[in-house]
Amino acid sequence: MKELTERVRRIALENGAALVGFAPISRFDTAPPEYDPRGIFPQAQTAIAVAVPQARGTLKTVEEGTYWQAYNCDSYWYLNEVLAPSLLRALVMALEEEGHTSVPVHNPFRADAGRRTRPEHATGPDAMLSLRVMGVAAGLGELGMSKIFLTPQFGPRQRVFAVLTEAKLEPTPLFSGTLCDECGLCAKECEANAIGRSRDVTFEIEGRTYGHASFDPAKCGHVHRGDDPRFSPFWNGSEKEGEDPSYHQFLDHRFRHRGICVGRGCLRSCLDHLEKTGRIQKQFKTPLIRGKRWKFNEPPQVRT
Ligand code: SF4
Ligand code: SF4
Repeated sequence: MKELTERVRRIALENGAALVGFAPISRFDTAPPEYDPRGIFPQAQTAIAVAVPQARGTLKTVEEGTYWQAYNCDSYWYLNEVLAPSLLRALVMALEEEGHTSVPVHNPFRADAGRRTRPEHATGPDAMLSLRVMGVAAGLGELGMSKIFLTPQFGPRQRVFAVLTEAKLEPTPLFSGTLCDECGLCAKECEANAIGRSRDVTFEIEGRTYGHASFDPAKCGHVHRGDDPRFSPFWNGSEKEGEDPSYHQFLDHRFRHRGICVGRGCLRSCLDHLEKTGRIQKQFKTPLIRGKRWKFNEPPQVRT
């Protein structure tokens, strides 16, 4: 299967992936049943993880407080809705051409939505997996304390997608380095206070223990989507009760994705720290974070 593995890798790179890794399905034997990829494709033998970098400029303009559309279009909507489907389809078609049934997993946004169709299933459809853990299992990197996925090339600056296939492909060794130095900036700079301060959630892959801090998705979601007027520049104080700012509505309608926080702590602080300390390979000519960061001290006042 070496030849097919290399062919799959080449197709992934040609179709927009920067990193490709292969996890034998046995690496998920100790996963919670509701996060085992076999919950999606019971016959899977290999999980393929592909990572696609986010353009640093899309994070930079949010860090500067000047422009949100590049992130929402390029690093959110485009990667999730355009590049990933096309990249995963190219891989799936190549594998199926060789007779190996294969399933693309773009972004498992909606899980456990229906009734169990068979008693042995851990959940109802749609089943779930963690693309971050998939990246770890496929040897591409590690989890930071915040639970964000880190690679030695880009730190936290990528999205991960997956293909589950019946093909037995050559495994990529697990990543053996250390990227996160427990600096704590992710938790400190998260306006939602969504990230814990110690790695109290653990899981095992091939006898190795991985961990991350507890993470509160509800707290994150509120700030991530800009629902708290203290942390989004797009509230102007004139919105009626229950009404979103018009810019938030624009993002929803134009891009079907809305990122307002854009990882102030978990992504931007972490990336800046890993770049400045030389802990990741990709370096840039100017720092991501310069001087004092923008921050509102109070919600907007109604203009009169
Ligand atoms: S900000 Fe620091 S502690 Fe948090 S994940 Fe990144 S390197 Fe680890
Ligand atoms: S996206 Fe923002 S609110 Fe959510 S965890 Fe990251 S820094 Fe916190």
